[in-house]
Amino acid sequence: MVTTQKLCDEIRKQLAGKQAKTRFAPSPTGYLHLGHVASAIYVWGIAQVLKADVILRIEDHDQSRYRSEFAEAILEDLHWLGFIPLTPLESLEKSFHIQSACTHFYDEALAKLEPGRLFYCRCSRKDIGAAVARQAIEGDLLNEVPYSGACEHLNLIPGHNPLALRFRMSDRDFPFYDARLGLQSQNPFRQQRASILKDKNNHWSYQMAVVVDDMRDGVNVIIRGEDILTSTGRQLDLRDALGGTEEPVHLHHPLICDDKGAKLSKRFLSEGVRALKIQNVAAEAVLGQAAFAVGLQSSPQPITASKLHRLFS
Ligand code: GLU
Repeated sequence: MVTTQKLCDEIRKQLAGKQAKTRFAPSPTGYLHLGHVASAIYVWGIAQVLKADVILRIEDHDQSRYRSEFAEAILEDLHWLGFIPLTPLESLEKSFHIQSACTHFYDEALAKLEPGRLFYCRCSRKDIGAAVARQAIEGDLLNEVPYSGACEHLNLIPGHNPLALRFRMSDRDFPFYDARLGLQSQNPFRQQRASILKDKNNHWSYQMAVVVDDMRDGVNVIIRGEDILTSTGRQLDLRDALGGTEEPVHLHHPLICDDKGAKLSKRFLSEGVRALKIQNVAAEAVLGQAAFAVGLQSSPQPITASKLHRLFS
């Protein structure tokens, strides 16, 4: 495991002289909470050290869970914390964007995929089994669902009944280097067999949207929570299938853990940034608590957004 102070050296080594470009990609299915703040600290703190551009992407691909008031609140709260200039939702462009305005890019990407690897599937989460049911209860966003292959050879054609569109994963190892965790390897076929690209409601999936966006934005440093680590092999597989050449550097950061959580004020853990702001808690105090919660500082001392590089150098 690489220490926090060495993470940027590790990323630099892997970038081999290329200018770094990273992103922060919250899903607007709720208000910004301490976990998001911890992730944003990693993204912007490391970007400060590497002098990297940060793209802010509102991941509203799941239109059934999305609410524009959450997206607006996320933008306001990120501004209040000191990460971004004040940006109204309707003027997101260039370095900030929203996935629902980018669906034509996903259509274009779909056309590039080998037809023999695409098929329609009628399985419900219930059909797929107990593991799925558990994940559905936990509100899994990432289609992290083992799939039996039941519809793979049925040649289903979309008609009356809603069908999901799946992509058969490659049955081989995808090794990748994580700047914090070291060498990783995942076989996407064994993990999931076939990933959903478009769900039964005709919404693009996280896996498809994130790969297409990272490719077209030229993101070469992907920083995100360890909860998404198991998606990386699938995303590399899809990237390959879409003709991606240069593999991005990955860093999956730790999540806020319970034992640290116990030492944290309950209020910080349970309340969203918005609620803390209304109670007149300072932005620096929220950042300090989040940095502490994720092990980036030994105490929850306040820290300013512009000084986050200190946590990584
Ligand atoms: N939208 C995802 C989330 O909010 C992050 C996806 C990613 O960084 O790849 O958890």
